[in-house]
Amino acid sequence: MLSSVESRAWEVAAAVVDPEVPVLTIADLGVLRSVRAEGETLVATITPTYSGCPAMDTIRDDVELALAAAGFAHVRVDLVLSPAWTTDWMSEDGKRKLEEYGIAPPTGRARVRGPIPLALAVRCPRCGSLNTREVSRFGSTSCKSLFECRDCLEPFDHFKVH
Ligand SMILES: [Zn+2]
Repeated sequence: MLSSVESRAWEVAAAVVDPEVPVLTIADLGVLRSVRAEGETLVATITPTYSGCPAMDTIRDDVELALAAAGFAHVRVDLVLSPAWTTDWMSEDGKRKLEEYGIAPPTGRARVRGPIPLALAVRCPRCGSLNTREVSRFGSTSCKSLFECRDCLEPFDHFKVH
């Protein structure tokens, strides 16, 4: 059970948005793992969407600033690398917001074991067509790959499943 202080701090931290996709909060992404009081200090834990994600420093700072602004005097943000984040942690609400933002959400589920992630057709966020193809493994950021729709001919980002 979270104490009332912890649940209030969770609300504050959960509202921090991803700097790369500002329609998604870090709670939507599943990046925010926990907020716990350790004595006088509030400890928030976050898990990067992939190792070396440059957005994580920004997210860490933003969580600290948001909690400080909400009146929490002693705040620490810890990075937790294990278990590794997968796109399965993204909330359904988050996937819907991602698609409305024009980025195709991750499809299928991340691999549980074995080397091959399940690849499903990626739906065009503009026209809904499944007739799409990957143009480049890397889109606007390394979390995403660049796709092109064969029907409406629009390029779009796909949030990679991993
Ligand atoms: Zn399309």
